[in-house]
Amino acid sequence: MARAPVVDQTLCISCGLCTEIAGGTFELDENNLSRVIDPTGDPEEVIQDAIDSCPVEAISWCEE
Ligand code: SF4
Repeated sequence: MARAPVVDQTLCISCGLCTEIAGGTFELDENNLSRVIDPTGDPEEVIQDAIDSCPVEAISWCEE
């Protein structure tokens, strides 16, 4: 079963941590909010690291 990271932009505080840790997966958009550019842009453990590092827990896994 595949799973993909999703960002709740209503929670994101634009700290940029997730984009630093997993830059293949997340980027800051024109409003400086994180968005997923490629759900498999980094190894899963790197994405998990980004999820765990988000200070406002704005990122979660969506099971497909
Ligand atoms: S780590 Fe969390 S708060 Fe920081 S940019 Fe990413 S989603 Fe936003």
